[in-house]
Amino acid sequence: MGFSEWFREARENFTCDVCGREVFAGERVCEKCLRGLPFHRTVCPLCGREVKEEGVCLECKEEPPGVTRARSACEHEGEASRLVVRFKRRKKYLAETLAELSASALLREFPSAEVLVPVPMTKRALKKRGYNQALAFAEALGKRTGIAAADAAEKVKETPSQKTLGRKDRAENLTGCFRIADRAAVKEKTVVIVDDTMTTGATAAVLARVLRRAGAKGVFLFTFTSVTRKEPFGKKEEQKRGMGSKKRNKTEKPAE
Ligand SMILES: [Zn+2]
Ligand SMILES: [Zn+2]
Repeated sequence: MGFSEWFREARENFTCDVCGREVFAGERVCEKCLRGLPFHRTVCPLCGREVKEEGVCLECKEEPPGVTRARSACEHEGEASRLVVRFKRRKKYLAETLAELSASALLREFPSAEVLVPVPMTKRALKKRGYNQALAFAEALGKRTGIAAADAAEKVKETPSQKTLGRKDRAENLTGCFRIADRAAVKEKTVVIVDDTMTTGATAAVLARVLRRAGAKGVFLFTFTSVTRKEPFGKKEEQKRGMGSKKRNKTEKPAE
């Protein structure tokens, strides 16, 4: 390790990963920022998204998610969404921070979990980013929860841009993209798919189908954040295109 690398790491270890202020050794996020993070209050029992009133959300009433249950630690808003974006842009060490902020939620929500399976990337995408953030997050969660993390799935085909597609079309688009490389790791096991963010949930739904076919006993989804639905997915993009250059939303968009 060179000096600059050592210095960067040492500094990161003693500053808040959100605001950069000094923290006590071992802390990753200062108390003030911790209080400001959009941790969930009331969630849909199926998809785990933040809801205003208790009960199954409208989207799940229309079409239940492809996993038995999905849960996340935070809403994809404010500093939580910015942490995710930075995590995906070279700040791999943030996997530890995200895991620290969500390990207790994972254990609480999925006490029967036996294996954590990250959403895989294609070899090409992996080369471009340098690491699979879902794998880094799953491993950091595994370290804290004692649940095994297994990079058991492969993404064998890249999907065309999905931004303008609705939920059903996205699911169709993804069929055939995943393959289970390590069947022994998931066979007859309760599997929790791990990713940084849940947007539509279509990716996890397709991966869940492939995992069940490989013999998984139950399939859940855990992400650090989930995007709260303010309107049906797909519609938002259409509106935006019609509006031309609208002011950027404060929330960072997860890139899929
Ligand atoms: Zn802070
Ligand atoms: Zn729901």
